[in-house]
Amino acid sequence: MGSFRMTIGAVEILALTDMNLVFPMPLKELWAQVAPEAWQPYREKYPDTFAGDYMRIEIGCYLVRSQGRTILIDTGYGEGPIASIGGLRGQLMADLASKKVRPDEVDRVFLSHLHSDHVGWNTTVREGQAIPTFPNARYMVHQADWDAFRKPEIQARFSFPYMDRCVQSLDRLGVLDVIVEDRDLTGEVRVLHTPGHTPGHMSVLVASQGHRFLIQGDVLVHPAQVTEPDWNCHFDMDWEAATQTRKRLLDLVEAERTAVVSCHFPLPGFGQVIRVEGRRYWQVGLALMEK
Ligand SMILES: [Zn+2]
Repeated sequence: MGSFRMTIGAVEILALTDMNLVFPMPLKELWAQVAPEAWQPYREKYPDTFAGDYMRIEIGCYLVRSQGRTILIDTGYGEGPIASIGGLRGQLMADLASKKVRPDEVDRVFLSHLHSDHVGWNTTVREGQAIPTFPNARYMVHQADWDAFRKPEIQARFSFPYMDRCVQSLDRLGVLDVIVEDRDLTGEVRVLHTPGHTPGHMSVLVASQGHRFLIQGDVLVHPAQVTEPDWNCHFDMDWEAATQTRKRLLDLVEAERTAVVSCHFPLPGFGQVIRVEGRRYWQVGLALMEK
C-alpha cells in the first residue's frame, strides 16, 4: 500500500488509501458536459487516471497530526461489500494498521462531505449494530450537508442508502458535531466551507511555520480540472457553485503557493498547481514527500 508521509512545518500528514478502482460509470456519463476528444491531452498527461473510457480513481483519506491532535479526514467507502461499485471492500483499516495507527488514537474524524466514498468507515456493523469505528473520536460535518442528505427529494434523486448506518447513527450516539461556519481544529488546521460539489462541502487548510497546504476534498476530482475549472462531474450537486469554488481555490493556492492534497488523484495525491504558458496544471509533488 506504500507509505506516504509529508511534514509541513510542525504538521505531519499521512496519505491513506481505502481503494483504487475503475469507477463503474463511463466518462461520457460521469462528465456529461465534456466532449470525449477533450480528454486527449489529459490522457497523455495523467495516464494513471484513465482505464479506457472509464476513470481510474483513488479513494484517499488523510491522517493529520497537529498540536497533539490526531485528525482523520474522510473515511472511504467502508467495510462493504459496496453494491454501487460491484461489491468491492474498503481497505482503510488495513492501511492504518500497516502504518501502525490504532483506531483509538484518532480523536477527530472530519468529513469533507457526505458522499458514500467519504463516510464509509465512520461506523462498523457488529451484531447488527452500527458502532463508531474510531471509538474515541468526535465526528464533524457541515450543517448544509447534514440537512441536504436527509431531504426526501434529494434522497430520491441521488439515493443515499448508507446515510442511516454511516452518519445518522453517529448523531444518535451523540458523537456527531454539526458545524455552520469555518473553524480551527487546532492552531494550525482550519476547516473552510467550499460548497458546490455538495452544499456543505468543506476543505482543510493547514498552515505551520510559514508553509501551507490545502486538503481540497472533491473540489477537484480529476487533475484535468486544474486546467479546466469549468468541468463538473455528475456528482457535483450545484455546477455553478462548484465551478466558482474551484476557481476561487485555484486562485488562492496559486497566489499563496499552497501545496494541494487531492483524495481522488493517484496516491498519495500530494502536489501543486503550476503555470505553463499561461495555463494551470497539476504537478505531482514528489519533492514534498518522504517515502
Ligand atoms: Zn468523492
